[in-house]
Amino acid sequence: MKIKEIMKKYDIRPSKRLGQHFLMDESFLYKMIKAAEITKEDEVLEIGPGLGVLTLKLADYSRKVVAVEKDGSLIKILEDLLKDRKNVCLINEDVLKLDLNRIKKDYFTNNCFKIVANLPYYITSPILMKVIENRDIISKAVVMVQKEVAERLASLPGSKSYGILSIAVQLYSDVEIVSLVKKGAFFPPPKVDSAIVKLDLQKKAKVDIPDEKIFFKIVEAAFAERRKTVRNSLKNNLELSPEEVDTIFQKTDIDGKRRAETLSIEEFASICRVFMELKGMKGWDKNVFH
Ligand code: SAM
Repeated sequence: MKIKEIMKKYDIRPSKRLGQHFLMDESFLYKMIKAAEITKEDEVLEIGPGLGVLTLKLADYSRKVVAVEKDGSLIKILEDLLKDRKNVCLINEDVLKLDLNRIKKDYFTNNCFKIVANLPYYITSPILMKVIENRDIISKAVVMVQKEVAERLASLPGSKSYGILSIAVQLYSDVEIVSLVKKGAFFPPPKVDSAIVKLDLQKKAKVDIPDEKIFFKIVEAAFAERRKTVRNSLKNNLELSPEEVDTIFQKTDIDGKRRAETLSIEEFASICRVFMELKGMKGWDKNVFH
């Protein structure tokens, strides 16, 4: 059944609050499945099944699909639409509250599962951070996001869209923009165009960082004032003395007049190393960060 027929049959009014924009153009479903390299061995977590169009295809191509939907009113409809698919489990829950290790233990048998989802855009960043945090049990994520977010995920130093999200995602995954998707592919159409992004996740960081928590504190401090030089941002936001901040830039051989958005992940890692040396830190110390 097509989206508009399903909406008519079940008298559905899409919720703006829950980011309900249903994918009508089926060609993108196949693009997502192909990008995720789904096989009959795979177990897949889908976030926000909506009216089940992607869920149905995932059920055809994979071994098992667990689909988590926050909107309780869609669950009964999904149960009806998916009644012939024995390899689909529906969970009525907010994905941000879900314990993904619990999902793996309760529903899956493989060491890792894949995520394929047309995300609710209002919570894209927290979902992506959750994916990164759970990279030891997730092998790939193929997600539909706003085009602007896709650009942030894939962007490199020197670009305006490069920031904390780019660094967090690129530290633990290879990012690829698979396809751009025009607003008209959805009903109702969202305000912005979208893109399908593929993240190939790795358990270990791609760059050697001495301490993850301290590394991200430094990245956050550097990006807190994007218009300022990285020297001033670090000095102000890490409460460093002028001497301390000068030592960091001398020892790392980085020009402190540059802006945070020009620094590579490797450069942030070497700032982190010198910062920890300077403060005599072996790991996280709550007295250093307020
Ligand atoms: N997968 C469907 C499709 O491609 O047509 C629907 C995608 S729609 C962009 C996003 C879906 O996520 C909606 O069904 C919405 O109800 C659901 N959703 C919103 N917030 C959620 C949350 N916190 N946890 C789980 N699902 C959520």
